[in-house]
Amino acid sequence: MKVTLPVRGTVGYIVLNLDTGKTIEFLVKKKDKTLWYLRTKDEPNNPKEAEYCTSYRGILYIRKGHAIFKTKDKAFNNENLDYTTKLGTFFTKLVNFQRLYPRLRISKANRCRVCGKHLTTPESIKAGIGPTCAQY
Ligand SMILES: [Zn+2]
Repeated sequence: MKVTLPVRGTVGYIVLNLDTGKTIEFLVKKKDKTLWYLRTKDEPNNPKEAEYCTSYRGILYIRKGHAIFKTKDKAFNNENLDYTTKLGTFFTKLVNFQRLYPRLRISKANRCRVCGKHLTTPESIKAGIGPTCAQY
């Protein structure tokens, strides 16, 4: 699956590690023309709890066609990437070099592209937007 950054609003990606069965959800929010905020959600298999576990990780920007992640969190500069750890560095590589991760499966999260909330009905999922946000 191709990971693309949102043109506007928020896009969620769920990354499944086939070796551990663990998942991480990344929320990518469009900030302005060239900047995206990257957040991670803990416990993405439990949507109710996940709403309280969002953590800000840094900003993504594009240079020469490649996504670059910037954060002050030193943990992200560690190159010993644990696939089950929430790493912005990892997400950057995921965007640019997905073929390096054959044991990972990436899927798009069913989230409203405006507010980021979970979409539940087939109609909303297909449209990518929830009924409340679709009114405006
Ligand atoms: Zn919405």
